[in-house]
Amino acid sequence: MKRVIALSYGEIALKKDNRSHFVTILKRNIKSALSGIDYSIRQDQSILYISTDEYKEAIDRLKKVFGVSYVSLEIEVEPSMDSINEAAIEAMDYELEKGSFKTFKVETKRADKSFPLKSPEISRMVGAHILKHYKVLEVDVKNPDRIIRVDIRKFAYITCNRMKGMGGMPVGSNGRVLSMLSGGIDSPVASILAMKRGLSCDFVHFHSYPFTSGRSFDKTLDLAKLASVYQPHAMLFSMNLLKIQEEIGKKCDIRFTTLLQRRSMIRLATRLCKELDRQAIVTGENLGQVASQTLEGMSVVDPVSDLMILRPLLCFDKTEIVDLAREFNTFETSILPYEDCCTVFVAKHPKTNPSLEQVLNEESKYDYKTLEEEIYSKMERHGVK
Ligand code: ATP
Ligand code: MG
Repeated sequence: MKRVIALSYGEIALKKDNRSHFVTILKRNIKSALSGIDYSIRQDQSILYISTDEYKEAIDRLKKVFGVSYVSLEIEVEPSMDSINEAAIEAMDYELEKGSFKTFKVETKRADKSFPLKSPEISRMVGAHILKHYKVLEVDVKNPDRIIRVDIRKFAYITCNRMKGMGGMPVGSNGRVLSMLSGGIDSPVASILAMKRGLSCDFVHFHSYPFTSGRSFDKTLDLAKLASVYQPHAMLFSMNLLKIQEEIGKKCDIRFTTLLQRRSMIRLATRLCKELDRQAIVTGENLGQVASQTLEGMSVVDPVSDLMILRPLLCFDKTEIVDLAREFNTFETSILPYEDCCTVFVAKHPKTNPSLEQVLNEESKYDYKTLEEEIYSKMERHGVK
């Protein structure tokens, strides 16, 4: 009996006209996720079947590919009742090895309508076979401990272990963006959520070396790597904002520091976006979290860019963001205690209700254009994967 991994792609299956475009990108992302593993792939309607000897490792990796709604390890047999029954016992044995349970039900789908029995009959026969084999198990159709799924196509597929995939859409299927990555909790989560909706992300990070340390940069590079587990490839760009921060510190009202810094960051990110042909900027901003993330704060920063600024976390609670950071495996790195460039120069009481006029007035006190030109020209590029 042959084991194969079945991947179902939920949302893409609904895209009638350009489904093949999405599936091509999904296959490319699967290839990247499975690099180093020997496998073959076959498509049957809206299921991809992957054959490999290293199925455990492959499943771990495939569970992180966006666009896949379910991942399951299935037994592939000839479509006959004897083979299906035999496979159902093997699937149950495999499941019972992992831990005992009491109840089950069988669900059958018959994509191949030429199979002589109808789905409910097949379910009943497989159920009866399992009951005869395991005297301790019972059928519970409402609330079973396990569901055995039988899928009849050219071959029959039997599984007792369907796992949820990441869902979403294949990374790259909706465009390319530049994500502003700090060393905090929010921005890696925002980046991964952007990937979940099919956006491939490159990253830009601003630091204040030597005020911020090399370790603080390494932490950001690690976060870019952790976030990029969910996409095929990425670059991290870094720029040293210190000169601008020093100028602002010397010449401007301290209450405007954060807003002025953010305007420079967005201007520089916009320039990079255009150079890289990226369509939008992503940030981890979250409404009301700090003074610069109020509607007033954001509305005096946004006008410096003519690009869309996407804020996937705008309406999340911090506890929800932390839960996602744990789920995406970025949390432990994000909370390492290295300083962030924005915390090096920050006012105790930032301006909470700034007007654009006040901000422009502060910004006219130093030559940000020349400074930004210099900062941009010294930008560094790092491959993430
Ligand atoms: P995070 O947890 O992502 O650091 P935060 O809640 O600390 O977010 P801020 O520091 O105010 O919020 O920054 C808001 C957003 O601006 C960040 O989520 C990130 O997208 C961007 N940002 C902030 N600092 C930097 C930086 N040093 N480099 C690049 N982007 C940054
Ligand atoms: Mg931060």
